[in-house]
Amino acid sequence: LSDKLDKALHVLKGHGSITEVNVAETLKEVRRALLDADVNFKIAKQFTTTVKEKALGQNVLTTLQPGQLMVKIVKDELTQLMGGDAEGINLSGTPTVILMSGLQGSGKTTFSGKLANYLKTKKTKKPLLVACDIYRPAAINQLHVVGEQIGVEVYSEEGNQDPVAISQNAIKHAKSNGHNIVIVDTAGRLAVDEEMMNEISNIHKAIQPQETLFVVDSMTGQDAVNTAKTFNDILNFDGVVLTKLDGDTRGGAALSIKSVVNKPIKFIGTGEKMEAIDVFYPDRMADRILGMGDVVSLVERAQEQFDEEEARKLQKKIAKNQFGFDDFLKQINQVKKMGNMKDLMGMIPGAGKALKDVDIDDDAFKHVEAIIHSMTPAERTKPALLDASRKKRIAKGSGRTIQEVNQLLKQFNQMSKMMKMMQGGGGRKMMQMMQG
Ligand code: GDP
Ligand code: MG
Repeated sequence: LSDKLDKALHVLKGHGSITEVNVAETLKEVRRALLDADVNFKIAKQFTTTVKEKALGQNVLTTLQPGQLMVKIVKDELTQLMGGDAEGINLSGTPTVILMSGLQGSGKTTFSGKLANYLKTKKTKKPLLVACDIYRPAAINQLHVVGEQIGVEVYSEEGNQDPVAISQNAIKHAKSNGHNIVIVDTAGRLAVDEEMMNEISNIHKAIQPQETLFVVDSMTGQDAVNTAKTFNDILNFDGVVLTKLDGDTRGGAALSIKSVVNKPIKFIGTGEKMEAIDVFYPDRMADRILGMGDVVSLVERAQEQFDEEEARKLQKKIAKNQFGFDDFLKQINQVKKMGNMKDLMGMIPGAGKALKDVDIDDDAFKHVEAIIHSMTPAERTKPALLDASRKKRIAKGSGRTIQEVNQLLKQFNQMSKMMKMMQGGGGRKMMQMMQG
């Protein structure tokens, strides 16, 4: 990743600025990337609007490395949207009660085991797993298998058809057996239905958990947002667990869910094994959603367009006789980026010949730049202002000689004259001048 970034930024070095048009163009691409990653359309649109305001507000237009800044703004904003810093879970309460909610197949049972294992090894806790999915005997068995695997006790009641009572009994059991964490695994349905919502709501009311987690399969994309909303309306849950982020799912659902329910994403599941659990880090997810390489190349593409647009603007300026040293500086930057003066001149019809003997190396550029940087903005836009005393000041400021300043002025005048002629359809006149 950082390789790609370096390379892209190397390419971007030397560019002047990104225009408003290019910012918009880049963001259109970012929006497309977000939609590809399953981010809700409205959110993607809103996101790009915010980023655009920030980019223009921070004067991306005038920074030395607009590409880098642009990537940073996009990433920061995305990170912010997903919750800023990573948030842990609330471990208060004796015992701490954690309730799992979510649709069937989202990964509740698997995650219950993962979390128990995580708390046991990382936080030296003594968890108890509780089987409240009473509808499928296989589900209870599944939790027992998980518990055995990680060496955590599983509480279940055969024959008891009341999940509220089971969860309450489990907490009592935990208290009298020294468990300081109780993880309640519940039943889910394939889609949101009233019975399921009532049941989870009743359990929630009865056991008053410190943490209610909403578990969601990150591959479900947009549906996940609606499901999250329904569960949140009823449970007002504390956090989200995104499972199945081990494939090539980009995880855009994370962004959408966070935006819609405004609850932190706390953990991610990255595989079927008990160890495949991670604390959720918004900045890492931002990288994942954007696929950093992509964004950098988007910025590059915008930069190319920027060049074209600059060229158009330049033509206008020349036509209006407004070509100044700032434009000259921009031209130099372009040339430096391309690395070869002759290549550039070759692109201007007829000009290659005129300059074919001029040998401009990097040092020459540096000197020229130093001189121009020592000019005031007024002097740059109106080179006619440069009288003897100003030239002297500039020479001193840039550490160059008066002769060099004069030489640059001469070159500049020639260049603008030449450009003016090419513009005004004076191609023939110019050819005569060059040959003469
Ligand atoms: P529940 O119905 O909500 O309890 O879901 P389960 O825990 O039974 O998980 C459903 C399926 O998803 C199982 O086959 C799990 O092995 C699988 N699963 C759960 N979490 C992950 C994960 O993070 N990555 C992958 N690849 N599979 C997962
Ligand atoms: Mg289950």
